[in-house]
Amino acid sequence: MSDIDVIVIGAGIHGTGVAQAASAAGYKVLVLEKNGIAAGTSSKSSKLVHGGLRYLESAQFSLVRKSLKERAILCRLAPSLVKLRPFYIPIYKTTTRRPWQIRFGLSLYAVLGGLRKENLFKRVRREDIKKLDQLEQTNLQKVYQYNDGQTNDVKLTKAVMFSAKALGAELKCPVNIVSIVKGKMGFKVNYKEADKEVSVQAKVIINAAGPWVNELHELINPKVNSLDVDLVQGTHIIIDAPAPSGIYYLEAEDNRAVFVMPYEFDGELKTMIGTTEKLFQGKADDVKPGEEEVEYLFNIYKSYFPEYKKVNVIHEFAGLRVLLKDNGTMFARPRDTILHWAMPGLLTLYGGKLTAYRSTSELVIKKIKPLLGKKRRVAYTDQLYLSLDG
Ligand SMILES: Cc1cc2nc3c(=O)[nH]c(=O)nc-3n(C[C@H](O)[C@H](O)[C@H](O)COP(=O)(O)OP(=O)(O)OC[C@H]3O[C@@H](n4cnc5c(N)ncnc54)[C@H](O)[C@@H]3O)c2cc1C
Repeated sequence: MSDIDVIVIGAGIHGTGVAQAASAAGYKVLVLEKNGIAAGTSSKSSKLVHGGLRYLESAQFSLVRKSLKERAILCRLAPSLVKLRPFYIPIYKTTTRRPWQIRFGLSLYAVLGGLRKENLFKRVRREDIKKLDQLEQTNLQKVYQYNDGQTNDVKLTKAVMFSAKALGAELKCPVNIVSIVKGKMGFKVNYKEADKEVSVQAKVIINAAGPWVNELHELINPKVNSLDVDLVQGTHIIIDAPAPSGIYYLEAEDNRAVFVMPYEFDGELKTMIGTTEKLFQGKADDVKPGEEEVEYLFNIYKSYFPEYKKVNVIHEFAGLRVLLKDNGTMFARPRDTILHWAMPGLLTLYGGKLTAYRSTSELVIKKIKPLLGKKRRVAYTDQLYLSLDG
């Protein structure tokens, strides 16, 4: 019998986060990843470490409060990877969300964030509005500014894996999982690594396979119960316009919120725009940006920044959100992670936010502790600095 306590499947932000938290709690951890660290959704996000102002509209207050708390922790633990940026919300005559609603939302956001100085918002002075990155001025009534976090999702995920490894976790990548068999003493995972067949055993399995979670369930014997989910595609584009000085929170024609933000691409600061929300059908491996999504995002940019006429889309990418099936609009569906015991000893993570990965991972540890018993804790994740510099 192997002495591995936990096998984590998937090295996205949740898999690496759980590996770090489990190793910190004293458990022996093995991470199995089929492609690369952050190869899935964790490299396709909007790169925001935020409470999610827009989630206030669907009354997800506890998610916003928790995420703002995590944002503060990550700004402290990973100052080179997570940075506060100015966010601008322009309000035109035609904007649906009126100034009082924005002020109300931003006040609530500040309260949920603990009324710290960095959570306060302001109205941009009229003379300063004109200096805002060639933002369309016609019919512009007001601009509000608040702060939120931005990161590089790939670097953040790598830094979390780096921290997990420093605590003793092991990563095998790339591997191809062939089967997972439940036995009396735990699980046997059979996988191929460079055509070599390997079997490992562990007491607990964490399925952190992102949009592939239910596909992974199909490899498990005996059969497990999966939750019914929708995969919702979100596309981003990168254009060769000068990077804006902050992040613009814009209202699209269909009332959705779309961000225009500075982002480093190929070593240069460019402009990134996203995202869309489109129901995805098919295999998670096949996700790719749709032409109409690219056009939708590019048109939003051009309507708010009409001065930049000769800009081109230089890169596009799409990722998949995992949302529980429900009759509500995609926008209003809960974004918090669902932890589901697919069978005793096998915990599956559905959905969630990059921002909240650390608190989600701690919750996972709480759930699996009764199965593993208590070990001597090695560290606390809210005290472990994250960096790629070692
Ligand atoms: C468009 C979009 C924008 C977003 N923007 C934000 C944002 O700005 N801020 C925020 O906080 N959150 C955001 N999110 C949410 C956030 O990105 C995700 O919740 C998070 O990245 C999911 O991480 P994960 O580890 O669960 O999944 P993933 O990152 O998808 O990781 C799953 C991993 O499992 C591996 N895997 C799959 N199957 C197997 C297998 N059989 N064997 C081995 N490995 C396997 C995959 O290769 C992958 O590396 C966004 C999501 C989307 C879709």
